[in-house]
Amino acid sequence: MYSVTKLIHFCYGHRLLDYQGKCRRLHGHNGTVEITIDKPRLDSRGIAMDFEDIKSIVQLWIDAELDHRTILSAKDPLVPVLRKLEEPVVTLPGNPTAEAIAKHIFDTVKSRGVPVASVKLWENPTSCAGYREAPST
Ligand SMILES: [Zn+2]
Repeated sequence: MYSVTKLIHFCYGHRLLDYQGKCRRLHGHNGTVEITIDKPRLDSRGIAMDFEDIKSIVQLWIDAELDHRTILSAKDPLVPVLRKLEEPVVTLPGNPTAEAIAKHIFDTVKSRGVPVASVKLWENPTSCAGYREAPST
């Protein structure tokens, strides 16, 4: 199996509900998405997936839909407040943890036909969480 990995940087704000640590407060990250794509075979050029193709599909979507957005739980009382102020808000069904944001990116990228194997979200240079599907048996 071949793999290619692309790093995409974006900025986002979030906060966690029902959480006692400092991430309960609205704050932001300069995050890095690490997306890995698996391909069993190379194309006629010897490429598993062209980095430019990943960029055109994944980075354009992240730039348009996630970059400099606030990502919140759909249950967060801030959602209607920010929307009333015409601030762009992205909602997830549960807490917008790095794990949940990674899964959101994984699901969206997969739905666009990219053979994504895993997505990791680095919240800072030392902390990352990710999502990948369990190998089929
Ligand atoms: Zn955070």
